[in-house]
Amino acid sequence: MRPFAYVRPERTEEAIERFAARPGARFLAGGTNLVDLMKLGVAGPPLLIDINGLPLDAVEETAAGGLHIGGTARNSDVAAHPLVRDRYPVLSQALLAGASPQLRNSATTGGNLLQRTRCPYFQDASKPCNKRVPGSGCPAREGVHRDLAVLGHSVHCVATHPSDMAVALAALDAEVRLRGPAGERTVPVAEFHRLPGDHPDRDTVIEDGELITGVTLPAPPPGARGAYRKARDRASYAFALASVAAVLTVEDGRIGHAALAFGGLAHKPWRALAAEEVLRGAPATAETYRRAADAELAAAEPLRDNGFKVPLARNLAVSVLHDLASRADTTG
Ligand SMILES: Cc1cc2nc3c(=O)[nH]c(=O)nc-3n(C[C@H](O)[C@H](O)[C@H](O)COP(=O)(O)OP(=O)(O)OC[C@H]3O[C@@H](n4cnc5c(N)ncnc54)[C@H](O)[C@@H]3O)c2cc1C
Ligand code: SF4
Repeated sequence: MRPFAYVRPERTEEAIERFAARPGARFLAGGTNLVDLMKLGVAGPPLLIDINGLPLDAVEETAAGGLHIGGTARNSDVAAHPLVRDRYPVLSQALLAGASPQLRNSATTGGNLLQRTRCPYFQDASKPCNKRVPGSGCPAREGVHRDLAVLGHSVHCVATHPSDMAVALAALDAEVRLRGPAGERTVPVAEFHRLPGDHPDRDTVIEDGELITGVTLPAPPPGARGAYRKARDRASYAFALASVAAVLTVEDGRIGHAALAFGGLAHKPWRALAAEEVLRGAPATAETYRRAADAELAAAEPLRDNGFKVPLARNLAVSVLHDLASRADTTG
């Protein structure tokens, strides 16, 4: 038994103050990841600050024509919201591709971004793991790593980030809004998660005690279409082996706006900047999509057992781009 204290503040300032006053405290949102990690002995916060009473669950249009999604908005509510379904279908599809209906009813925007890796060694407190215990080693590199990273990994960690939602948010140029003892700041989603480098224990750039108050999306480019596609071992209730979020405009047979992000391949949602460069201004053809995917995946460094992820990701990207472009061409 590990004792811990529990509080449920009703004001955001109070939640932040409570956190600052108790080193090692954690915010509790849906609890679908944190509580599991506590049961496994991977996390042991002395204080849980329940943030479900804070006024942070709204989903509303911004003055600039974009969308603000509150930090405690439930994944199921966001996926079903008419503005999300209508203007940001890539986000709705990504959310619905994650977990199960019951989990999505509890899981929140902030918790989804901050969920920890599903690397089996990280979740087993009896094993060494640099992410859990810095300096203890990375058994996954030579051990079980079929589901782990092919891009951006380091000798210290080859874990992947498990969120589907974050991949769509990266392709949508969303920003994370943070509030902490030092005030408020905004970080682009694509820069919010880190590559492992020498410090795999740090998943993101969030500072201890900062609260995710929400995520803001810019207005979608006129005529843009978006889609999310995920490959996994089972048809539902499984994390991505590889996934793709894409947002595209096509006019007169040429690609205009192109945003592409991969999931399941790296320690963070992987914004595919090299692929986007190939896509912008190019003819909307299968040849372009193949060249774009290859340009991005040339950087892949598969491990012994996960080389299959590279052609999988390539085929997912090509098929999503093809489907989007054939729907998006305004010349019909
Ligand atoms: C069986 C199973 C299958 C799953 N499959 C998928 C899947 O396919 N795809 C997918 O994307 N996810 C999947 N998930 C993960 C699920 O989406 C996450 O557990 C969930 O999104 C976490 O949200 P939460 O609100 O429950 O977070 P919590 O568990 O409450 O918190 C997670 C972390 O975030 C911190 N936190 C929470 N909110 C805030 C905030 N506002 N500000 C600062 N810190 C905060 C907590 O302190 C904690 O460290 C699965 C989970 C399970 C159990
Ligand atoms: S891949 Fe990362 S999370 Fe997994 S064992 Fe290695 S250090 Fe730990």
